[in-house]
Amino acid sequence: MKQRYDIVIIGGAVIGSAVAYFLAANPDFDGSVLVVEKDPTYAKASTSLSSSSIRNQFSNPVNVRISQFGTEFIRNFAETMQIGADRPDLNFHEGGYLFLASTQDQARTLRENHAVQRACGADVVLWDKNELSRAFPHLNVDDIVLASYGRSGEGWFNNTGLMYGFKNKARSLGGVDYVTDEVVAIARQGGKVSSVTLKSGQVVGAGTIVNASGPRAALTARMAGLDVPIEPRKRTLFVFDCARTPEGSANVNKGRLPLMIDPSGVFCRPEGRFFLSGCPPLEDPCADWDDFEPRYEEFEEIIWPALAERSSAFEAIKAVNQWAGHYDFNTLDHNLIVGPHPEVRNFIFANGYSGHGLQQGPAAGRGVSELIIYGAFRTLDLSEVGYERVVENRPFLEKAVI
Ligand SMILES: Cc1cc2nc3c(=O)[nH]c(=O)nc-3n(C[C@H](O)[C@H](O)[C@H](O)COP(=O)(O)OP(=O)(O)OC[C@H]3O[C@@H](n4cnc5c(N)ncnc54)[C@H](O)[C@@H]3O)c2cc1C
Repeated sequence: MKQRYDIVIIGGAVIGSAVAYFLAANPDFDGSVLVVEKDPTYAKASTSLSSSSIRNQFSNPVNVRISQFGTEFIRNFAETMQIGADRPDLNFHEGGYLFLASTQDQARTLRENHAVQRACGADVVLWDKNELSRAFPHLNVDDIVLASYGRSGEGWFNNTGLMYGFKNKARSLGGVDYVTDEVVAIARQGGKVSSVTLKSGQVVGAGTIVNASGPRAALTARMAGLDVPIEPRKRTLFVFDCARTPEGSANVNKGRLPLMIDPSGVFCRPEGRFFLSGCPPLEDPCADWDDFEPRYEEFEEIIWPALAERSSAFEAIKAVNQWAGHYDFNTLDHNLIVGPHPEVRNFIFANGYSGHGLQQGPAAGRGVSELIIYGAFRTLDLSEVGYERVVENRPFLEKAVI
């Protein structure tokens, strides 16, 4: 490790590693990069605990385009990230997302979102209850007013594969060092940050610092005397077994079921021979940093009743595994914050994805690399999700939040 790097990235999971990769892969960049990661097992990183899905069905065109780039990147990942004979295929299962609306209000939102998605070229269709029932005969559609289904470009993939693909390729390209250590302090003189202090005691000079510390983003920002409205919020995922699985019964997409979002907010998707499910929590306080205890009761009290109501196939289900992770929750508007602090321009935020950070990793990593190399976004303009809106208390509007 050197005593000074052009770029120091704090956090080496999917976002930190995506930034490192896009810097190293750009021929216009010849600087040095240090990624500081305190836990190389990534056991509690959001990246490892994620449900690893990607959708184009957002309401804001910026988010639709971010995910469209993610889809394309995931599809080509093995080729882009190949190192020698090693091709890290992400096993992208293009099962689609299915949003269900049971009220006129929900249906209006789906229609409005659909118009935005179609304008961006997303392959999404709206169905009435009869069309829905033909496509997925196992569903009870009695209360359904409208459904929105992504025919392609959406699905789920290998989460840690995405992170390690970026990390390994970034290192193989040269100019990128990873160190196992924790950033405990950041030196700042007025409008500039200049170094990080590691727990081991070492001080490392930094031309630019990137905050990629996930749910701990606010702790990292505070070291530089800055605020960012991000806190850890607990989400529990359940894997369940289903005695009479409906997977294979669909009349679309080779029989495959999508990731379904019930009007109640409960979601489930196939996961091999099992299903993965979750729900919005009834109460959603800021979590303790080290509290990863699952909310076991959510399965019996919220998920199972909603799914059994939606399909008789889900009447006999049994949770076989569960875990809890932390959303990197942006309390201002539930969306990513990507860009420099307006008064400390060499401190760049790449935080606050609130449940979308895996799929947004490729676009966020590329965007941050462009800010560093060119001083501006070159491909997809992410300035709407910059830090300025935090200062101005101007939420970025996204209606399709899960
Ligand atoms: C249950 C759950 C389900 C999800 N489902 C989806 C989904 O389906 N699709 C989707 O796109 N997204 C999903 N997400 C969100 C997504 O996983 C996250 O937004 C994304 O992984 C954030 O990546 P990150 O690299 O910013 O944060 P993390 O993965 O949390 O990584 C941050 C890293 O920074 C390190 N770090 C922190 N502070 C320091 C420090 N001071 N010094 C050194 N290292 C430090 C940590 O050790 C950690 O490894 C989900 C999240 C959860 C919890």
